Amino acid sequence: MASSERTARILRNTCARCAQCCIEPVAPVTDADVRRLMRASSLPAARIIRFWSSAEFDYEPDRPGWVRLPGGRRAMGLRKPRGRCLFLGPDGGCRVYESRPMTCRTFPFEVTTRPDGSLGKVSRIRMNWCRTRPGTGVDPAQLAAWSSTEDAEDEAYHRRVERWNRMQRDTHPPGNREDFLRFLGLAGESV
Ligand code: SF4
Ligand code: SF4
Repeated sequence: MASSERTARILRNTCARCAQCCIEPVAPVTDADVRRLMRASSLPAARIIRFWSSAEFDYEPDRPGWVRLPGGRRAMGLRKPRGRCLFLGPDGGCRVYESRPMTCRTFPFEVTTRPDGSLGKVSRIRMNWCRTRPGTGVDPAQLAAWSSTEDAEDEAYHRRVERWNRMQRDTHPPGNREDFLRFLGLAGESV
């Protein structure tokens, strides 16, 4: 199958709005995501995110988002009280939809973008609980725009994490979660 045909077929996958992706995984977030969520929810960062261990979070061990904290490496993700994303409403809708994290916008697609911002390679992340079905699908231009933003924000966040992790090697005692949020400019912000 030609790659453009394959891409078109993948993009016809339409979300069933079952909300399983707001229940099953932990959603990893960047400081840019958290800042948007703070504005949308008026919650402080510490009420939005949690630092998850590798035992709790299915996040690849070599990803650059692992933060050096007392107790070991942790990755920043949305809180899940009672096993559901804190922003998932009782009706199964996202209460911060317009400000949802980039990963929530691009899921379940894995996308590369070309230098001109158009869509490059597209694949579908296969999770047995995600039940997209053939339909009208997603707007390729919108998906490309979200993916570019996601890549840029991930890169900027990962650079900050790398800097923090380097600093911790020479810091005694090492910085804690609150210090890390302060380092990101997120602690104590009331927006
Ligand atoms: S922020 Fe919204 S879309 Fe993302 S996991 Fe939470 S409820 Fe789902
Ligand atoms: S992306 Fe998949 S898991 Fe998430 S709401 Fe749509 S169909 Fe359900």
